[in-house]
Amino acid sequence: MNAMAQGFQRFSREVFPARAALFEELATTHRPTALFIGCSDARVVPELITQSDPGELFVIRTAGNLVPPYTRGPDGVAASIEYAVDVLGVADVVVCGHSACGAMTALASGGDLTALPAVTTWLHHADASMARTGAGGHPAGPERVAALVKDNVLAQLANLRTHPSVAKALVQRKVTLHGWVYDIGSGSAETLDTETGRFTALAG
Ligand code: ZN
Repeated sequence: MNAMAQGFQRFSREVFPARAALFEELATTHRPTALFIGCSDARVVPELITQSDPGELFVIRTAGNLVPPYTRGPDGVAASIEYAVDVLGVADVVVCGHSACGAMTALASGGDLTALPAVTTWLHHADASMARTGAGGHPAGPERVAALVKDNVLAQLANLRTHPSVAKALVQRKVTLHGWVYDIGSGSAETLDTETGRFTALAG
């Protein structure tokens, strides 16, 4: 905690004054251009890996970068998606998976999650991801985890399309959906080619 407080002091003493004009504008303006849906994993930092400034990314982070399909119940993820797409009008939505994801590793290895009832329930949003990977016949181990990470991005993009705000924006061609997988160890990323369903190196 001390490190966080010290970090804030450094921010307010050094970083904030150096970018005063940006923060002055942001004080009254919220106009992000993209919605980034990533994993809660501490190693996957959206603003760092996309080199985005404050104000540029609207961010949702969930365990396993899972996006529950739309229902009419109270749902924080759904509310954030609706606000980003309908109100803020983001032009791009990225669902980003990552290497060594704890959630995907637990699922791919069939780990015992009975002591974690909330995690178990939440991970059911990856049932379609698991079905895709199961059909692929990948051997147990790192290859299956890597396959599940990618299949999960595909499945969560499908879930995203069930949200009325996204469905509407897609028809109106106001939004583009993207699937990424970030590799922590190499700092590289792949992007989903929607034509082929394959992932290729992410280039600018
Ligand atoms: Zn993760």
